[in-house]
Amino acid sequence: MANLDRRRINFVKRLPIDVRAQVLYLFLKEGISNRKTEQLIDALNEEDGWQAWSVIHFYGFNSKSKARFPTLTLKRIKDSLLNVNVEELEEFHLANSEEKELSSKIVFTENDGKDVFRTIKGRQGQYKLRKALVQNYRSKCGLCRINDPKLLITSHIKTWSTSSANERIDTTNAILLCKLHDALFEYGYISFTDNYEVLYSLDYDFEGQGIAKDITFTKPVRDFPSSVFLREHRLKHGFE
Ligand SMILES: [Zn+2]
Repeated sequence: MANLDRRRINFVKRLPIDVRAQVLYLFLKEGISNRKTEQLIDALNEEDGWQAWSVIHFYGFNSKSKARFPTLTLKRIKDSLLNVNVEELEEFHLANSEEKELSSKIVFTENDGKDVFRTIKGRQGQYKLRKALVQNYRSKCGLCRINDPKLLITSHIKTWSTSSANERIDTTNAILLCKLHDALFEYGYISFTDNYEVLYSLDYDFEGQGIAKDITFTKPVRDFPSSVFLREHRLKHGFE
């Protein structure tokens, strides 16, 4: 998502919901350009030429979303907008840009486009999940000392694609890990016992890759990884 500053956010928030819905409709369904939309809607007349763009980006869309939702109706957009938590979106846009950047890069493989607003909610959910994990794991990889936000990611225990909507944002179904440990965990080269001891796959040459095998798990402040998800991970990757 592009950066929206406080001024643009306030502009969007001041617009009546009907106007916001109309902007999204013209863009997402009809593929009308921002400039054209600004000419069509009186409420968008003032400002600096970024009015329609601000609405579109506020709700998490970008140039790739143009004319991508041919079956959308104005009513459906409006109903959806009434269910979007504006304060949460505002917080998302004003958040630390690194955190935001990372959560906005999350790729949605399922149901993409089926329900446009699922994407917004999904992104918001992932942002909140990451934020909670960063707090729970004290901004550090659960398995090493890495604390550079750019190297830390939300590692789902049960994979994103097989998780339900609730499981995807469940703090006990995710661990804050650095990119290396996330990859080792995702490929099943490492796993965990219910007591959070690290298990190492016999099929992987840790030594050859220069990867330490004496790592210990630093437990989170709260929301420990669930034993149900951990067991699933062990079963999936042949640890039991
Ligand atoms: Zn690590």
